[in-house]
Amino acid sequence: MIFQSFLIIFIYKLINLDLLLFCDIILLTKIIFKQMENCIFCKIANKEIETNILYENNNIIAFPDINPIAPVHVLIIPKKHIASINDLDNYDQKIISDIILAAKKISKDLDISEDGYKLLFRVGKNGGQEIPHIHLHLIGGAKLHEDIRPI
Ligand code: 5GP
Ligand code: ZN
Repeated sequence: MIFQSFLIIFIYKLINLDLLLFCDIILLTKIIFKQMENCIFCKIANKEIETNILYENNNIIAFPDINPIAPVHVLIIPKKHIASINDLDNYDQKIISDIILAAKKISKDLDISEDGYKLLFRVGKNGGQEIPHIHLHLIGGAKLHEDIRPI
């Protein structure tokens, strides 16, 4: 009798937990879809907005920054909506390595590889990130300022 009661309680808890988990997953999916709908870089990745694609593979896409701060200013983004470096998880390792290797390839294609360049991920408010979809800035084609000190 005691065993049966424990079993019933156990099954009840399991169903309850699963229900909560299910609701959490639905909620999270809804939030992510909402963010993607409003995300300019998702629209570029999905080709809803036209851009000059400099490099693309299954995971990532690269295109010129609309407001360049140097002769070469390219943005390399994951096709999957990930808001910032803070939101990466272990499954995203391939995406991040693809982004960095794309920067190497594009710098060679645009002939700035030997002279050098900067790679920049901004993260959040203090990092100055304006678009909440991970993007690596590839900046070069001229000697660049050093300054990254606090304001
Ligand atoms: P963040 O400040 O988030 O690191 O950089 C965002 C960058 O995205 C800025 O350099 C800005 O010029 C660029 N950007 C913003 N909107 C667009 C757009 O619609 N198209 C392109 N190509 N770049 C954009
Ligand atoms: Zn996005």
